[in-house]
Parts: sequence; structure tokens; C-alpha cells
Amino acid sequence: MARVYNFSAGPSMLPEPVLKKAAEEMLDYRGSGQSVMEMSHRSKVFDGIIVEAEALLRTLLNISGNYHVLFLQGGASSQFAMVPLNLMVTKRKCDIVNTGQWSKKAISEAKRYGTVRIVASSEDRNFTYIPDLTGVTFDPDAAYVHITSNNTIFGTRYRTFPDTGAIPLVADMSSNILSEVIDVNQFGLIYAGAQKNIAPAGLTIVIIRKDLVGEPQEITPTMFTYKTHAEGRSLYNTPPCYCVYIAKLVFEWLIDLGGLPAMQKINETKAAMLYDYLDGSKLFRPTVAEPHRSLMNVPFVLSNPGIDEEFLKKSVAAGLVNLKGHRSVGGMRASIFNAMPVDGVKKLVEFMKTFEMEHR
Ligand SMILES: *Cc1c(COP(=O)(O)O)cnc(C)c1O
Repeated sequence: MARVYNFSAGPSMLPEPVLKKAAEEMLDYRGSGQSVMEMSHRSKVFDGIIVEAEALLRTLLNISGNYHVLFLQGGASSQFAMVPLNLMVTKRKCDIVNTGQWSKKAISEAKRYGTVRIVASSEDRNFTYIPDLTGVTFDPDAAYVHITSNNTIFGTRYRTFPDTGAIPLVADMSSNILSEVIDVNQFGLIYAGAQKNIAPAGLTIVIIRKDLVGEPQEITPTMFTYKTHAEGRSLYNTPPCYCVYIAKLVFEWLIDLGGLPAMQKINETKAAMLYDYLDGSKLFRPTVAEPHRSLMNVPFVLSNPGIDEEFLKKSVAAGLVNLKGHRSVGGMRASIFNAMPVDGVKKLVEFMKTFEMEHR
């Protein structure tokens, strides 16, 4: 069977060269006589993999020695608790920007461990924009300010990040990490579930400034303590070994491509192809306007929702799968993460053009 173009919001596509390389190395990883899946996480071979994965990620994002890179489990959803448990210690307050359902989850989880102030929100217009934070005064007594850099469900993204001064800025970058150039030094902590732009589900990446790694709130489980994993070099317990290996292959793929500047260009090209068509269409309408548009998740609705089902059925037949939108937005959503080839977006636009012709 031919491979499909998968527009799922996650888990999502992985680069084909990465899958091929993984297949090649499946039974015998570089003469070790084993698959990485079977290997002890204490072995020299696996240590080489995790050390290399970290080094490559540091290169890609230009991460300074001032930060730890952690390979954890539990998904971004665990970070909703881990961040407040570890950062709200002497200061038991935080400021959070509410830009959608993932922000809301970060808010409700943080509320269990301290006082949360919602400093800005875009809920009034169903999260179709990123609130302007230029006039916002952040609480100097806040332990951190939390944002969601890309809103997977609503298709919005920050073009610039707020200046929070001495207050550490924390970002959930699950759905756009490694999609464009960023300056890590603007952040105290970045976290991301891997299943959108990095690896299969099961791995969570945390980039944390070293001074933020300390004693957590007393109730914090050992496994939810950053210090545990920073001191243990992400090997305190068994890490998601195979995911770390695939992450390493994805990082190599990105570097071969030309790193994040090159990846960003490709992502901008893909997104422009889709948004340009949507903006000119009479049948389809994008739900987000510039300058708030995501490069990764493109929600759109049909002017006649009565033909949603037909659109989905025909798209699957054309090898374009998982275009159904999230129920809170309706319509469709095309997630075009790093690994979605330009050709996949081309095919989607061609398919939509044909569909529009049929429904004039
Ligand atoms: C997918 C996603 C999450 C949830 O990640 P899990 O790894 O499933 O916990 C959180 N935040 C954002 C922005 C996401 O896109």
C-alpha cells in the first residue's frame, strides 16, 4: 500500500528517511547485534545515542551550557504539573496566558499548587488570535509566566515572545518546537511532547535554565522533580530509549536539511501555499487571520458544513488522511508539521481546488 499524507495533529508523520534508517538498523544497531528497543539503557551503545541526541538538539537550537536538556516521559500534560511543582516554591504565584485548551489545562493543573493569574486571554473570540501582551505588567512576585507558543487546536502562534524581564518565561512548545528559529535564552523553561515534531509518542523534552533546577514543593514525587533527571542525565530510571533514538535520527535529518533556518523556510512555504489558497477560496475559509496564523496547524471551515463528510471521505480516498477538525473549532484542520513534505501540501491544495470546482 502507498503511504498516505497524514495531516493528524499528533502523533504525526515522521520523515521518511528517518523511518528507512530506523528500519535498516532495526535488527542490528551498528553491529551491536540488537535493536535499540532491546538494549539496556545502561549500555555504552545507548549512552552514545542519548549523548549524541542531546548534542544534536543543542546544536539545532543553539542551547548554551546554561541549560539542561532532559529526556522525560509523561507527555507535555505531565509538565502542566511538573512546572508549578518545581518552580512555584518560594514564590507560590504564576502568570499564565490563556490561548486555548492546552493553556487551560496548564492553568487548572497549576491551580492545584499555587495561585494562578490569567494575565491575558483570547477566549472572547474562541481563541482565534494571540492577545497583545505589550501593555501587560507581569507580577514581579510570580514564579514564572507561562505561554503556549503554538495552539495546536486553534491554529495560532506567537510571532514574538513577551519580555518578562527577570521573571522566567515558560513555554509549552509541543506543537512547534524545531519548526522555526527561536532564541532559547528568552526562556527559563521550554517543554514539548515529542509526537508532533520530534519522535513517536512517549518522549517529552524539557530545556531548563540551570538556576531553575532546585528543590521542588515538598509533596513532589521524585519522578516529577527536575533535579532528579538533571543529576541523573535523564537516566535516573529507564528513559523512552527507542524514542530518544528516533529523536536523534530526526535531529540528524534536520541538520542535513540545513538546520532550523532551512526548516523554517520550508514550513513558511508550505503554510503560504495553503493559506493563499484558503484566502482566495469561496468554499473554504481559514478561521485565523494574520499575524496570528500557525505554521503547523491550519484550521478551516467549509461555507456549507453539510458537505464536511463528503470532503473527508473524498480526501481519504485521495490519500490525504486525518483532516477532520477539532470539535471545538469544527470544519477541518490540516496539521503540516516538519515532516509533512511540500508535496503533501501541494496534493492537498490540488484536491481542495478540485473539490471546490465540483461544488460551485
Ligand atoms: C499535544 C499537545 C499537548 C499534550 O501533549 P501530551 O504529550 O499528549 O501530553 C500539550 N500542549 C500542546 C500545545 C500540544 O499540542
